Amino acid sequence: MFEQKGILFVLSGPSGVGKGTVRQRLFEQDTNLKYSISMTTRQRRPGERDGIDYFYKSEEEFLHLIEQNKLLEYAQYVNNYYGTPRDYVEQQLALGNDVFLEIEVQGALQVKKNFPNGVFIFLFPPSLEELKNRIVNRGTESIELVRNRLKEAKKEIDMMSAYDYVVVNDHVDRAVEKVKAIIASEHCKRERIEKQYKKVMEDELNAGTFD
Ligand code: 5GP
Repeated sequence: MFEQKGILFVLSGPSGVGKGTVRQRLFEQDTNLKYSISMTTRQRRPGERDGIDYFYKSEEEFLHLIEQNKLLEYAQYVNNYYGTPRDYVEQQLALGNDVFLEIEVQGALQVKKNFPNGVFIFLFPPSLEELKNRIVNRGTESIELVRNRLKEAKKEIDMMSAYDYVVVNDHVDRAVEKVKAIIASEHCKRERIEKQYKKVMEDELNAGTFD
């Protein structure tokens, strides 16, 4: 039997580009993906649920998790900590499941060091004007926070060169189709499957299947 190994997919992009919406739509359509729920010290936004959108932690709790090496990566973003729980990701990959992270760029760069075979996708806004409008119109942040998020967005865009793929989010459905195509292509990559396929062929030969 040819079994597929789990792949780690990382989606980043500037605040307001629509990562959350693309991710939600993707998960409605692809039930094989496992989403890693992040830890954060940021305040819960209206409508967000603990253990579904994030695991909400105090700063003290978060620092303790770092100390215990429980996070695969973490970053400070606009005065809050965000991090990926290590155990969940490692367990799911070991089970052969694809894992999907939606994180900012500093964290993605840390992941890349530990998982060079991961697939890094950068979601790009159709225009910077559009990006600004989306952050402002979301209306969940103060003017000061909006300004900081825009500053952060500019820095994030500069880091695009560390990514394998760039998807322009001009339309959610189109962006989701592209991410799905990337996932499918990565599973067909020779480098990922060659070793295993050769082993299966060898076993079959030894078992006399082709005699
Ligand atoms: P938000 O406050 O808008 O939910 O998220 C702010 C930024 O933090 C977004 O770019 C989001 O992708 C990123 N983020 C969410 N979870 C994590 C995480 O676990 N690690 C890192 N490094 N960034 C994260």
